[in-house]
Order: sequence, then structure tokens, then C-alpha cells
Amino acid sequence: MKKLILFIFLGCLVIFYACSTETEPDNESSEIYSEDKGSSDSQRTESDRSQEKNIEKKTVYLTFDDGPTSATTDILDTLHQFNAKATFFMLEPSMRESPEVVNKIIEQGHAVGLHGVTHDINNFYKSEQSALKEITTAQETLQQITGVRSNLIRTPYGSVPYLTKSYREVLDSNGFKLWDWNVDSRDWSLSSEQYLDTVIEQIEEQVNAGVTPIILMHDKQNTADHLSSLLAYLSEHGFQTEKIKENTKPYNFNCYQRCHQISTQE
Ligand SMILES: [Zn+2]
Repeated sequence: MKKLILFIFLGCLVIFYACSTETEPDNESSEIYSEDKGSSDSQRTESDRSQEKNIEKKTVYLTFDDGPTSATTDILDTLHQFNAKATFFMLEPSMRESPEVVNKIIEQGHAVGLHGVTHDINNFYKSEQSALKEITTAQETLQQITGVRSNLIRTPYGSVPYLTKSYREVLDSNGFKLWDWNVDSRDWSLSSEQYLDTVIEQIEEQVNAGVTPIILMHDKQNTADHLSSLLAYLSEHGFQTEKIKENTKPYNFNCYQRCHQISTQE
């Protein structure tokens, strides 16, 4: 009997030992695995870092209104230095004045859009037909100069408050794509440093809200002189400039009951 108990006891010991040795390699292998995983993680991080960077590249749209002007060439040179792309919303008389600059904008791969003729609130927004006429005149001139037919438009001073529903419908039914902005550089009123600061601050706000920044700037010398600082910031912070395409979904201000006819102001 004692022998039997001893035998069972020894048997248990053998089984226990076998079990414990079975689990040990598992632990070891999981450790090895986790080490492997660790090293492959670090390898993956290394190899994928550049790819992730590409995926994470944030888009930004640079837009320049009121050109072409004597500053356009400087703007184009700076954009070229940074391999950046932009969209120019141009005035019809200025296009007629400097057709070679309009062609240069297109040759350098930027987008072109229409900003009307008079840039005068009382003329442009007088009626649906006056707004449409200014835009189509600008469209025809652009096409005559460059052969490019653009449907991208930005109305003077933006679409709010004077572009009421009926104006929007007329422009829309004629195939025009209305573009406002969500970053106002205020480069027409601020000094160079102030305009850069205000743009960067608003870009960060838009990005934090998950919105693609669309920056309103003007085709003017002060803006041109400090554009490289803005482009350096964008490049350092992982932004990629893109031009607006005909099929890009347009961004418009919302009226929120703020839109009204120009005549009600008078
Ligand atoms: Zn303008």
C-alpha cells in the first residue's frame, strides 16, 4: 500500500514537473515574442514613419484675391520656391491689363477663379443679373487670354451678407462654384507680422476643429513680401498646399439670417 501511495505521489510529481516545464517555454516564447514584437514595432515605426507622415499631411488652400497686380510675380516666385500651389481669384480689368501674368499663373500650375469686374458692392450686388454679368464677363476674358474656362468664383467681400438665396441660385444654375474662406489673413489692414500671426492662429483653430483651412489673402506687395514666412511655417508643420479644383466641394459662409439685399441698406 505504501508503495502504491509512493508510486502515485511520484506519478503526481512527474505530471506536475511535466506541466510546469510545458508552461515555461510558453512563457519564454511569449517573452521572446513580445521582444520580437517590440523590435518589429520599432522597425515598423521607423519604416512607416515616413508613410504615416504622408497620410497625416494636412491640406491647406492658399487663395489670393484682387489680382493680377505688380506683386503677382513675387508671389509666384515664392510659391515656386516652396513648391506650393494656390488659387487666384482675379478681377476682369486687371486680367486685361496683365494678360501675361495671368498666363504665368496657369503655366506655373495654379488654379484661377473669377472675382468679377467692378469690385464695387453697389454695382456687383445690384441685382442677380448684375452679379452674374460681372462673373461671366470675367470668365470670358480669362478664357480669351488663357483658353482656360473657370467656374470657380469668389464674390467681392465674400458671399455674406449680400449674396442672398436668389443670387446663389442664379450663380449655381449657371454652373459657378462659390468659394468663401475660413481663415481671414486681414492682410489688407494688418502689418506683415500681424497678418502672419493671425493666419497661423486661425489655421490652428481650424485644424483643431478638423476643418481644412482656406486662407484668404490678397495679391499685394506686403503679402508677397512675407509669404515665405507663412510657407515655411506650413512646411514645418506638415501642411500640403493644394489648389482648388473645379470638382472640389466648395466652402461657403452660411447666411444664418444675415443675408439681405443691397437695396435694403440704402
Ligand atoms: Zn476682393
